[in-house]
Amino acid sequence: MYKRRMMVAAAAVALVLTGTATGEGSAQSAAEPAKKAIYTANVTVDPKQHRIAGSVQIQFWPKERERAYIHLYPYAFTKEADQKGVGWDELLGKGATPGTYHISRMLVQGKKVEPTRTGTVLEVPLGAGAASAGTAPVRLDLAFELVLPRNDGRMSYDDHALWLGNWLPVLAVKDKAGWHLDPYVPMGDPFYSETADYRLEITLPAGYQPVSTGSDHQSSVTQSPDGKRRTYKIGADNVRDFALMIMDQTYRLLETKANQTVVKTWYRTGDNMNQVKRLHQAAVQSLGYFHRTYGAYPYTEYDVVRTGGAFNGMEYPGLVFVDGNHFTRENQFGTAVVAHETAHQWFYGLVGNDQIGEAWLDEGLTEYAALSFLHKAYPRLAEERIARRQMRGTVTADSYAADGLRPWQPVQEFPDLYSYSDLVYSRGFSMLWTLREAWGEDQVDEALRRYVSKHRYGVATGKELIAEFSQIAGEDATPYFAYWMGMDRKQEASAKAWLERRRKR
Ligand SMILES: [Zn+2]
Repeated sequence: MYKRRMMVAAAAVALVLTGTATGEGSAQSAAEPAKKAIYTANVTVDPKQHRIAGSVQIQFWPKERERAYIHLYPYAFTKEADQKGVGWDELLGKGATPGTYHISRMLVQGKKVEPTRTGTVLEVPLGAGAASAGTAPVRLDLAFELVLPRNDGRMSYDDHALWLGNWLPVLAVKDKAGWHLDPYVPMGDPFYSETADYRLEITLPAGYQPVSTGSDHQSSVTQSPDGKRRTYKIGADNVRDFALMIMDQTYRLLETKANQTVVKTWYRTGDNMNQVKRLHQAAVQSLGYFHRTYGAYPYTEYDVVRTGGAFNGMEYPGLVFVDGNHFTRENQFGTAVVAHETAHQWFYGLVGNDQIGEAWLDEGLTEYAALSFLHKAYPRLAEERIARRQMRGTVTADSYAADGLRPWQPVQEFPDLYSYSDLVYSRGFSMLWTLREAWGEDQVDEALRRYVSKHRYGVATGKELIAEFSQIAGEDATPYFAYWMGMDRKQEASAKAWLERRRKR
C-alpha cells in the first residue's frame, strides 16, 4: 500500500527504459507448494445494489485435524464491527456507510458445521471431515451475501464501479510460529496468505465488466438467453488473493504488450489523459524493470485499475488499485504510487510474508525497488523522494527508539500513521539504500533476486531475507538488520563495521 502523507511534488523527466527481459521463466526454480488450495467461486453481482452473492468452495489440505480458520474481512466493515482505534477515520473517510455480510451455509465434506466467529476470523470445525491433517484435501463450502460498505478503502463502490479487495474468504496461515489469526486493523495491510489457484464464475448485468487478478484473455463469457446477463469464467493460478473490479461503460483502456505480459491501465472517460498516459507508462516501464532486475513476472496480464476511494494504491496479485485522485489531474506522485504498487508484485505477490508481523519486509523492499526504478527512469522525481525517505528513516530514529518503537514490530503496535510510515517505509528503504551506496546496486539486487527465486510463490520471513544478505556478504548480516529494523542501538557499531568491510572502493 502507499500512504498519502508521503506525497512529494516534483517535476520529472521521463526516460524510456528499454531492454530485454532476462528470458521468460529463465532459471527460475519455482518452489511451488505441492499442496495448494483451490478456491472455486460462483457469484452474482448486482452493481446497483452493491450486492455480491454466491458460493465459495475451498479445497485445501488442513494443517490441523480438528479445525481450520478463515479470514472474512468484510466483517470489519459491518455495523457491528469494532472500528475503534488508530487509522479508522482515515480509512473510512467522510460519510462512510457500513456493509453487511451473511453466511447462509457452511459445509465441510458436504456436512453442515457450526463455525465460531471472532471478529473477522472464523473457526471451522472439521469434524470427521479431515481424517488426518496433511494427508488428504478437505472441501469447505459456504454460501454468502455481501452488501458493500461505502468508504475510502479497498472494498467499496461509487457510481461507476465496485472494487473488491480482500472480499473472498481466505484460509488463515499456520506456519512455524503457529496460526496467524490477526484481526483486521486499519494500519498497514493486515493480511497474510498463501498462494492458491482460483476459479471464478461471475455473473453481471449487461453494461458491466469484470477486471481481476485473472487474465482477461484466459476468461470466457456466456450471455443469458434474454441478453440481460453475462457470466464470466475467470481463472488465476499461483496467486495469494483474488481482487475484482466491476466497472460500467465509462471505463476505457490503455494497453501495451511487454514480453509475455499485457499491461492494462483502466481509466474513466473524463480523466486527465496526460495523467492516464503517465501512469500507464510508469506501469509498463516499472514492470519491465522489476522483471529484469528481480526475476520474471509470471502472469500474462497486469492491470492498473482506477477506483474511487482515497487510499492511494493497493496491491493485489496481477492487479493494483489506484484511487481516482491520481487520474483526474496531472501530478508526479501518481507515478511513484504506480511504481510502488507494481514492485509489490514481487514483494508481497511472488514472495509473500506476514504483513502484520513483518510489514517492513514487503514495504521496505517494495519502496527500495520502486525508488531504484524511479532513480533510473525519473531521476528528478526520485532524488527528492530518496532524500526525504533517508531523512525520515534516520533522523527520527532516536526518538522512536526512545519510545520503544521499531520497524520490526506488529502493525497494530504503531501508535499512528506517521511512525508507521517513518519506520516501515522510510527506515526499511534507508537500510537498503545505505547498503546500495556502500556496496553498489548490483550486490543488493543480487540478494533480492536470490530471495525472490528461492521463495517464489511461497512465503518468506525477515530471517530468510537476512540469510540472503549474509550470503552476499560472506558473513552474518544479523547485526545490520538488528540495528536498522530492530532499532538495537547496541548493534550500531557492528552494523557499521559489517557494512564497511564490503564497501566498494
Ligand atoms: Zn506498499
